[in-house]
Amino acid sequence: MVPPSRWRSVIEAEKFMLELLFVRQNIRILFLGPAGSGKGTQSAKLAEKYGIPHISTGDLIRSEIKSASDLGKKVKSIVEAGQLVSDDIVNEIVKSKLEKSDSFILDGYPRTLEQAKFFAEYSSFDFVFNLTVPREQLIRRLTGRRMCSKEQDPNCKGNYHVELNPPREEGICDLCSSSLYQRKDDQLESIERRLNGYEAETGKPLEEFYSNQIQNFDASQSPEQVFQDLERALDLSQICS
Ligand SMILES: [Zn+2]
Repeated sequence: MVPPSRWRSVIEAEKFMLELLFVRQNIRILFLGPAGSGKGTQSAKLAEKYGIPHISTGDLIRSEIKSASDLGKKVKSIVEAGQLVSDDIVNEIVKSKLEKSDSFILDGYPRTLEQAKFFAEYSSFDFVFNLTVPREQLIRRLTGRRMCSKEQDPNCKGNYHVELNPPREEGICDLCSSSLYQRKDDQLESIERRLNGYEAETGKPLEEFYSNQIQNFDASQSPEQVFQDLERALDLSQICS
């Protein structure tokens, strides 16, 4: 017969072990990287493989509106008026979701130094993965996209890349033989504006802010190779922790 005091300590020990186990499974990951770095694809794959929730700020805003909370109602009126949801409100929405969450993958938040500082007041990341690709390669990836001109037609989802996924015949959709075109967003001028904006607002300030824990990955490699590198980084740290 174990004396009550001993019981208590056994239970406490078990609780402690469980907590340890739980803590070890907490994985909070931030993905940094410009458009075209494959950040969205890699974070979705990692989320699926490790069963970690992949959080998008757009989804959070939509679910806040749906919940009809006070904040949700406020956001709804802003969106319906065609205005942009301010940084402050995005911060509040993300906080209300993540404050009590131990595992998540973020790939679009924090987007600015101010957001990163706000997030740091109530949470932190276990991993900050930065996907790097030389600028010329990013531009090639992003400007090479071609869409079927019938893309509005639900019957055709023709989506090509002049180098990575070319159509059988140049400028012609394999699926419906319509002509292909380049979206305005994919033209050089827009791409350069987007890349410069990312670098100034997100890339430089956040790489600096997270400099003590950031891990850089060469994302000029194939998506499969990049994923392997990410997995290795996660697995190694699991063993070492
Ligand atoms: Zn087509």
